[in-house]
Amino acid sequence: MAIGPSFSHGHIDVICGPMFSGKSEELIRRVRRLQIAKLKVQIFKHGIDDRYHATRVVSHSSQSLEATPVNKPIEILQKLLDSTRVVAIDEVQFFDEGIIDVVNKLARRGIRVICAGLDQDFKGKPFGPMAELLAIADDVAKIHAVCTVCGGTATKTYRKNPKNADQVLVGESNLYEARCRGHFDYFDEEEDVLAYTIMRQERSLHETEV
Ligand code: ADP
Ligand code: MG
Repeated sequence: MAIGPSFSHGHIDVICGPMFSGKSEELIRRVRRLQIAKLKVQIFKHGIDDRYHATRVVSHSSQSLEATPVNKPIEILQKLLDSTRVVAIDEVQFFDEGIIDVVNKLARRGIRVICAGLDQDFKGKPFGPMAELLAIADDVAKIHAVCTVCGGTATKTYRKNPKNADQVLVGESNLYEARCRGHFDYFDEEEDVLAYTIMRQERSLHETEV
C-alpha cells in the first residue's frame, strides 16, 4: 500500500481471501496507519454483518474500529464528509453491484478506497460484486488463512452444512471453516463428485504402493 503520487488522484485497494484470513485485521492495520498520517478516514460495513457488533468492524482476533453500517452502496456517498480522504469498506461482498459505481466515484473524487471482502462464496464462486471489484482495483492483496484440516494454505471458505445453498448466510466458525484447495470439496455436479472420488482412490492407491 504505497502512499505515492497517485494518492491525490484516488486509488482503489482490495483485500480479499477466505474467512479467517485476516482481511478485517489488515483493513484495521491500514486504517490506523492512515489515521496516524492525520488523514480523515470514514469506515463503512454492510449492515447485514452484525456477528460481533452492529457499529464496529471486528476481527476474529478481537481488534476493532468504529464503523457506519450501511445497506445500500449509495448510502456511502450520502454519508460522505467533505474532509474525508480515505474510505474503508469491510464485508464489501455483501453489497449489490452498485458498489462498483460508488467506489469508482469515490476514487474519481481523489479518495483512497480500501475494500475488504470474501473473493469466493462457499461454492468457490466469485462472491457478489467481488469479481468486478477485483478487476477495477489498482491494488489487490489476496491473503490466506490456515486450513483447518491440514494446516496448509487456505484459500477457500468451507460451509459445514452445504444443504443451505443461499450465497449469503452470515455465520462464524459454527458454520464455516478455512480450507485449502485439497480439502475443499464442494461440488455442484455429480460427475465432479465422481471425478473427485476416483482421484482420491487413485491417490491413496499410489500412496500405499510408495
Ligand atoms: P477475516 O476478516 O478474513 O475473516 P479476521 O481479520 O477477522 O479475518 O481474523 C483473522 C484472525 O483469525 C487471525 O489473526 C487468527 O487470530 C484468527 N483465526 C481463526 N481461525 C483461523 C484460521 N483457520 N486461519 C487463520 N487465522 C485464523
Ligand atoms: Mg472480516
